[in-house]
Amino acid sequence: MNACNELSFIKKVTSVLLGIILGLLVLDGFLSSAAPTTVHLLSRNAVDGGNKIHYNAATEYEDYLPSGISGWNNLGGPKFAKDTASTVQDLKISDVYSKGEATYGLYVPIIGGQDKIYFNIYMMDKLPSTNQKSVVAHELGHAIGLGDHYSGYSGALMYGYGNSNKNTKPQSHDKSDFNKLWK
Ligand SMILES: [Zn+2]
Repeated sequence: MNACNELSFIKKVTSVLLGIILGLLVLDGFLSSAAPTTVHLLSRNAVDGGNKIHYNAATEYEDYLPSGISGWNNLGGPKFAKDTASTVQDLKISDVYSKGEATYGLYVPIIGGQDKIYFNIYMMDKLPSTNQKSVVAHELGHAIGLGDHYSGYSGALMYGYGNSNKNTKPQSHDKSDFNKLWK
């Protein structure tokens, strides 16, 4: 992929994600009258019929995957597991390099296909390693179905601003959203 195509591709996936976020805000507004706390869930996730996310990763940030994965796997719901010859790959994790997009990572659900997580090397490499680790765990949280948190949730792993988040494991509100979706 050349740089130009890469950029337009990122813009495209960002608008898909924006659509999801906008949908989520509407949903949050609707739910807030009935639920005591706001829930942050995506309408899609990478979990297959066997309650697994079979993933394949080729990324500079691969060293941070085991920590991110164990944080979610330990919550007792769907499990991330490495894709093998006998499984269907549910999620592909890879990198892009884009100076034009102020995004650290993106989760892109693909209807009827393999979901994607992209890390933007250009942005990620500006971050200290703890924040990089946090972004990796955060994007995995999207793949398991959780949405971004914004105001009032700055301590959450799913807080939407990767440059300020130093938590690398799910926090209490992440867990309560997870439990609403999977328990
Ligand atoms: Zn996010």
